[in-house]
Amino acid sequence: MNPSKTPKIKAKKVEKPPYIIDRSRLHRFDSRNIIFRRVMWDSSWKGYKRMYDEKVLSIIAEGKPGYSRVDFALAYASWIVHDAFEGGFSWKKIRLNKAPVDTIGIDWAKTKYESDDPRRMSIFIKRAARLFGASMVGACKLNRDWIYADVDVPKRFKNVIVMAVEMNADGIATSPAVPAAAATGIGYSKMAFILSGVGEFIRNLGYEAVQCGNDTALSIPLAIDAGLGELGRNGLLITPQYGPRVRLCKILTDLPLEFDKPTEFGVKEFCKKCRMCAEHCEAGAISMDDEPNFEVACRSNNQGALKWYVNVERCYLYWCENGIDCSTCIKVCPYNNASPRKVALSPKEFWDQVKSNQDNSHYDS
Ligand code: SF4
Ligand code: SF4
Repeated sequence: MNPSKTPKIKAKKVEKPPYIIDRSRLHRFDSRNIIFRRVMWDSSWKGYKRMYDEKVLSIIAEGKPGYSRVDFALAYASWIVHDAFEGGFSWKKIRLNKAPVDTIGIDWAKTKYESDDPRRMSIFIKRAARLFGASMVGACKLNRDWIYADVDVPKRFKNVIVMAVEMNADGIATSPAVPAAAATGIGYSKMAFILSGVGEFIRNLGYEAVQCGNDTALSIPLAIDAGLGELGRNGLLITPQYGPRVRLCKILTDLPLEFDKPTEFGVKEFCKKCRMCAEHCEAGAISMDDEPNFEVACRSNNQGALKWYVNVERCYLYWCENGIDCSTCIKVCPYNNASPRKVALSPKEFWDQVKSNQDNSHYDS
C-alpha cells in the first residue's frame, strides 16, 4: 500500500450525523428493491433468478487457488447460524426447546426494571453487547426515515442500539477468493448470536427488542447516527477502528437510553482522492467520480443522500461469476489497513496459517 494513502484517524464527536440529505428526494426504501430480493421477482434485470452459487462446480473444476471444494464448503457453512437459528432475528422472546422454560420460568422478566437513568441503561446494554461479542456498540434515537417502507414498526420503538461485528482480517485479505466469504458468513452468524443475547437481555429487563440484521431498516445510516463511523465511497460504513471490515446489526427498542453522538474523521475528503475500492472492483460497480452526488446508480440504491452510489446490480452479477460474495472493496480500503497489517493475503497463505495450527491430514485441496 502506498503510505501516502494511509489515513490519519482523529475521530471527533459531532452534533449532527455527517451526511447531507435532500428531503425532496428522500423516500423510505422499499426492501423489495434490495438486490437479493429483486433476484426473485424483477424479471427486467439480468440477475433475475440467478443464484450466486450457480457456477460453483465449474469454478471448482478450474482448480484456481482459493476456489477449492474445501473453500466453498467452509464459506457456505459459515452462514449456518445466521440462516438457521430462528432466535437470531426475533421480535419476541422465543424458546426452541421447551424444557428450559419449565425449569427456569419467565414470570419475573415480565415486570419492568425501572430506571430514570438512561445513561446507566446504556452502560448495561453496551456491556452486554461487548460480552456477547460485539466489536462496537452505539445508541441513538430511531430515525424512522431509515425504516423500510414496507415494514411496520410500532411507534413505541423510539430508540436503536447498533452493533458492529469485526470480520477476520486474514480471511477478508483473500478476497475475491472464497476464504473471504467465510469471514463474511462468520460475521453474519456471530451477529445472530449477539443479537439473540442482547435482545433477550432487554426482554429480561421487561422491555421490547426488535432484533435486526439487514432486515427492517437500513443499518448504515443508523450506525452513522449511533456514532460508529462514516460512509465511504464503497457504500459501506467506515469505522475508525476496523474501517469497513465489519458487519452491522441493530435492535429497535422502547428501553430508555443515553444516545451517542455521531463521529467524524474526514472519510469523505479522504475518499475523494483515494478511489482504491473503485480501482480494484472487478465489476466496475463503484463510482470514480471526484465528488459524491444525488444520482442513483440503479433501482437498488436508496435515493436522497449525497454519496457515491454503488451499482449493486453489477456487484451481484460479479458474485454470480465468482461463485460467492466478494469483499475486495473492504480488503483494499486503507481504513481497513490503518492499523499495521499485511494488505493482501493469498488464499494459500490463509490456508497455510490455518494448517500451521492444525493436523494437516484433516485438509485436502
Ligand atoms: S463487493 Fe466486490 S464486486 Fe461488489 S462493489 Fe465491492 S469490490 Fe465491487
Ligand atoms: S478504498 Fe474507497 S471507501 Fe476506502 S478510503 Fe478509499 S475511496 Fe474511501
